[in-house]
Amino acid sequence: MSVRQLFVTTALPYANGHFHIGHMMEYIQADIWVRFQRMQGSQVYFVCADDAHGAPIMIAAEKAGKTPQQFVADIAAGRKPYLDGFNIEFDNWHSTDGPENHKLAQDIYKDLRAAGFISTKVIEQFFDPEKNMFLPDRFIKGECPKCGAKDQYGDSCEACGAVYAPTDLKNPYSALSGATPILKSSEHYFFKLSDPRCLEFLKKWTHQAGRLQAEVLNKIKEWFEKDEQGNGGLGDWDISRDAPYFGIEIPDAPGKYFYVWLDAPIGYLAALKNHLDKIGVNYDSYISNPLVEQYHFIGKDITYFHTLFFPAILNFSGRKTPTSIFVHGFITVRGEKMSKSRGTGIDPLKYLSIGMNPEWLRYYLATKLNARNEDIDFNPDDFMARVNSDLVGKFINIASRAGGFITKQFNGSLGDSSGDGIALINQLQSSMPAINQLYEQRDFAKALREIMLLADRVNEYVDQNKPWELAKNESMGHRLHDVCTTCIQCFRILTLMLKPVLPKLAKDVEAFLNIAPLSSNDASALLPSGHKIGEYKHLMQRVDGRFLDELFEAPTEVTASIDPPVGEEIAPQISIEDFSKIDLRIALITDCKSVDGSIKLLQLTLDVGETKPRNVFSGIASVYKPQDLIGKLTVLVANLAPRKMKFGVSEGMVLAASHADEKSHPGIYLLNPSDGAKPGMRIH
Ligand SMILES: [Zn+2]
Repeated sequence: MSVRQLFVTTALPYANGHFHIGHMMEYIQADIWVRFQRMQGSQVYFVCADDAHGAPIMIAAEKAGKTPQQFVADIAAGRKPYLDGFNIEFDNWHSTDGPENHKLAQDIYKDLRAAGFISTKVIEQFFDPEKNMFLPDRFIKGECPKCGAKDQYGDSCEACGAVYAPTDLKNPYSALSGATPILKSSEHYFFKLSDPRCLEFLKKWTHQAGRLQAEVLNKIKEWFEKDEQGNGGLGDWDISRDAPYFGIEIPDAPGKYFYVWLDAPIGYLAALKNHLDKIGVNYDSYISNPLVEQYHFIGKDITYFHTLFFPAILNFSGRKTPTSIFVHGFITVRGEKMSKSRGTGIDPLKYLSIGMNPEWLRYYLATKLNARNEDIDFNPDDFMARVNSDLVGKFINIASRAGGFITKQFNGSLGDSSGDGIALINQLQSSMPAINQLYEQRDFAKALREIMLLADRVNEYVDQNKPWELAKNESMGHRLHDVCTTCIQCFRILTLMLKPVLPKLAKDVEAFLNIAPLSSNDASALLPSGHKIGEYKHLMQRVDGRFLDELFEAPTEVTASIDPPVGEEIAPQISIEDFSKIDLRIALITDCKSVDGSIKLLQLTLDVGETKPRNVFSGIASVYKPQDLIGKLTVLVANLAPRKMKFGVSEGMVLAASHADEKSHPGIYLLNPSDGAKPGMRIH
């Protein structure tokens, strides 16, 4: 039988933030499957990459005072502790900004163009006249056209839930500069998904047996159909963005870049090519080999891109398409959806830093994961029960019940199993194909249920034979050896079954049993009589409830019982990283004027060590006279987005203290650095 060749990826994480528990769930799911395939003898390349391009990263980088490349590299540098920490073993971690991806995306585009699948159209979009760029929807804000709520995004209202186009907003402004956006037209490039050849191909491709999960296919069918008004169906896909944009240049189209979603999935191929180049395997012959199976693990929110756009651009550029797309649901924590502002209650690095075992999480998630596109929930009580009663109570317990006797009574040597012991071992061995089938189908939940039922059988055997009783009677020494040997043989087979989920634990068991790394073929052979095992040491700790208390501890509790100082609660706790986003500088007030038409504001001219002075408006006219401030030092928030005001643009904010209730406690006090501070010095 020839060796199966598999190319496997997880979705590419957007490089504007660190991993959350949802990422870890997907990587663990794919890692378990890949480890299983490797144990079966398959040859697997398992790769991923940072999704580096797009306007949000360009803008975040600018705010952070970095180039987009540096910004992405800094995020990428933080990936390793998460992956290593949870025993997730990619062969390669690349970036969609790598040279392989630039070349592949441009080649695929040229092939699509030659095949007649690229068109152009002039469209109108909001443009920021100060930043000189077209604005993505989420960078346009204004008043909701339905309820009038202020500061709503360009696509939907957080106050009333209305969904609309950015052009519907009342008094729209750019979230980048505060400027009023203007409508401007530009030529865009489109992939002709509406071409009848696409619909014909995709209908066939998506319906191929084994290609997609049933519930995913049902959803896709809706996308194919037009409604009675002729809306819906497959429309052409806008694949271009205008400069300035952090992305890949479109060939023969100066100033145009590929929209990030065009080059992101091509990044799978680029990450593979980068890996194969490193290990000296020819990418072109590998990726075009019809025997190579190609699988992509993704979340349900990006199904459209992966089941329609991606196969279509591959097919019509003359390339091989994926074998399957494996779609999973979202993870909730204690029944609550993930929220950017509240987080999920589980920070993967905190989980590790407080000493929780990464394999507890791998095991727990695996008991919840199946092949269907369903949401799963992390429930702390359930987590503790599954790990403590199943993993430790049923599985680890077998080794701890038998290992000590083998060491103490039989000098570490195994004996022979007899009668009922052999029958039990046979039962485990003959379950192996069914368990493998469940792993293959990604039904990890069912595989683990079956494995734990087998562990129950072994524990029943221990309870029936009572080795602790046998040990009291010298004439029963032979039977004790037989029973404990059977337990160790069973423990070895169960370890083999659990190894894709628990690679670190399996390694510890291999060391304890003094055996080579287990692979799937090893189930039929047994350890020979006389084989020496190591001394039993406890293999896995139970989950202590205090871990979970600490994991879910709210970081703001520290201040909860303290009386609020001068009328205002201390704001929720932030990290040092949060604080470092605020760039505070020493500023010299070189000029100060009152503002015509405002009794509150003073206009300050500030030297912060830059080539040009800053213009800042500050509401301190009730306390300070302009001439009192000239020549004084103060503190400026130097990286605050410029704000357009009635009297001009304010380029930052000076720091001042006041009581929470300014009406009853008037007074506002500008901050004053100590002698020796120089304009432009950063405050840390
Ligand atoms: Zn609204």
